[in-house]
Amino acid sequence: MRRKKKALNQRYNKLIKQAWDNEFILRRFQNMELRLMQCESLTELIQVLLIECKEKFELEIVSLSLFDPESELQQSLQLTDPIQKESFPHLSFDFDAGRHLKLFDANGSPRLCPYNPDLHADLFQHSSQPIKSIALLLLKRDTRIIGSLNLGDCKTDRFRSNSATDFLQHLGAVISVCIDMAILHDKLRNIGLKDVLTGINNRRYFDERLPEEISRSQRYKKPLSCLFIDVDHFKQFNDNYGHASGDQVLKQVAHIIRQNLRATDVLGRYGGEEFAVLLIETDAANARDVAERIRQNIQNHHIELEGKSIQITVSIGVSGYQQPVDTSQPVKAIGASLIATADGALYKAKQAGRNRVICGELSA
Ligand code: GH3
Ligand code: MG
Ligand code: MG
Repeated sequence: MRRKKKALNQRYNKLIKQAWDNEFILRRFQNMELRLMQCESLTELIQVLLIECKEKFELEIVSLSLFDPESELQQSLQLTDPIQKESFPHLSFDFDAGRHLKLFDANGSPRLCPYNPDLHADLFQHSSQPIKSIALLLLKRDTRIIGSLNLGDCKTDRFRSNSATDFLQHLGAVISVCIDMAILHDKLRNIGLKDVLTGINNRRYFDERLPEEISRSQRYKKPLSCLFIDVDHFKQFNDNYGHASGDQVLKQVAHIIRQNLRATDVLGRYGGEEFAVLLIETDAANARDVAERIRQNIQNHHIELEGKSIQITVSIGVSGYQQPVDTSQPVKAIGASLIATADGALYKAKQAGRNRVICGELSA
């Protein structure tokens, strides 16, 4: 009788401990899910998954592979450049959804199993310790594949095929919804930063990037230059050839400017027939050369209209910021000064007869 009571007691204590453990695990999952739901961009969400998830769940490695057949996500994350990709070593993109599916059973439940280098090596690259057991979560909405979140641990018994997967399944479903929402959020944001006519970015985008680029130039002690480009006598062009033809010219001008810039340079349509450019890691002397090339390419461009070949010109104002001007000066003031100086130089270029580049001196 006494032995039976002791056994019952032990069983009771074990169940209580299990309940406490489950409660702890549940809270950890709930906290992570709340954190994921707060993310407002795909970049932030990826950081939470790859860094915070790894730390909170005390894992050796967390990697994320996203199904991205049209490279849309990579473009939206600006990760088309291999150097930028290095900042996310545990993030990969797949053209083929089959690659994700073949790791899971037909209903797509989380897969908990020992690590097999023949099957899983590409999911767990750059791991500092040998991985022993893994949990793979298929990310999908209905039948649409989003990707997979891959958790790896050094302990053989961390993920076993007979373990319960309810928490992980729930987490996978929440991550899938959060990724979809973050992509949508990014798309909406990008729409608000694009100019509908020319397809380049708009003034809002330029204004957002300006302080970021000034801070970056201060941090890395690199120069930063600004161009203000304005089409000459554009009112007259509209009057002569019509507004629709004027629209086509603006598109072509935007295209020529973009062609003369590096991928990292920032271009925005600042106003009607005015464009603003930030030349990254470029001093005023080099910026002048870029501006001169743009001016010449636009002047040499032939616009075919009403059986005639028409040429237009632009005037360009240049300003350059170089450390150390005054490190105590706030970023906002430097931005205002870069813009005012380029705009002032543009005004002088107009006054001096148009179709020319003038460099302004940044007031310290
Ligand atoms: P300036 O050489 O001094 O710059 O002369 P301008 O005629 O170019 O300058 P002004 O500011 O007098 O006129 C700008 C013109 O640009 C007037 C406006 O109708 C035209 N414009 C602004 N936005 C658009 C647009 O989206 N499409 C077209 N077709 N025209 C535009
Ligand atoms: Mg003009
Ligand atoms: Mg103008």
